Amino acid sequence: MSFSSLLGLPAGLQVLSFDLVNNVLVIQVASTASESACPVCQSHTSRMHSHYSRKAADLACGDHQVQLILDVRKFFCTNRECPRKIFAERLTAFLEPWARLTTRLGQQIEAIGLASCGRLGARLSSRLRIETSRTNILRRVMKLATETTDKVEHLGVDDFSFRRGRTFGTVLVDLQRHQILDLLPDRQKDTAAAWMKMHPEITHVSRDRGKDYAAAAKEGAPQAIEDRRPLSYRAKSGRGGPTLARTYSYRTEAGTG
Ligand SMILES: [Zn+2]
Repeated sequence: MSFSSLLGLPAGLQVLSFDLVNNVLVIQVASTASESACPVCQSHTSRMHSHYSRKAADLACGDHQVQLILDVRKFFCTNRECPRKIFAERLTAFLEPWARLTTRLGQQIEAIGLASCGRLGARLSSRLRIETSRTNILRRVMKLATETTDKVEHLGVDDFSFRRGRTFGTVLVDLQRHQILDLLPDRQKDTAAAWMKMHPEITHVSRDRGKDYAAAAKEGAPQAIEDRRPLSYRAKSGRGGPTLARTYSYRTEAGTG
């Protein structure tokens, strides 16, 4: 049995080397597929552009955390009609584009989140050699609740307050369907960027003018075009701080407008 199959890596991924670094099992992995399909037009190509290295946490092995270092290739799309000229190869269901952990590790964290909650889940994860945080566990569980309807191409990002002017969160809106997709527990760049990274289908981001959301869009949805038009509900909302009522008014007014 090969080391790759012992680790349960999918066909097409091969272990090149492994080493123990600061008690973390670091495994170098490369794709053995001779060609890849463009994510936009689905044309297959073997015309390689370049390589880059990508890190992703994976399931623990024995008593060690596992860090995969994947050698990912970029290809030219040879379809002249396709707007995407260069693309990174996709590693199918094993690792989502821009994810920092494998799908199977994400599923394990979700299972921990569903069976526990908050800080207790983070403690249990630590015992299981899974590096995560309370915020990350909660975010993954919250995402499960909306998973069937959260595909979004035109994303609106803004802040709102749980309690007026005291505790702020982030609201994510599908601007085509006029639906609130998710509410994040804060308005930090990293939290919004992590959410966007799970949505590679995003093509346009319309956001509040805050610098944090600009940085979040740049990091979390680098493929998206910035839509500089102000969020449509802003003209309809009254004065005062951002409140959940305001985001609610967006949903109803935009939905009927
Ligand atoms: Zn293409």
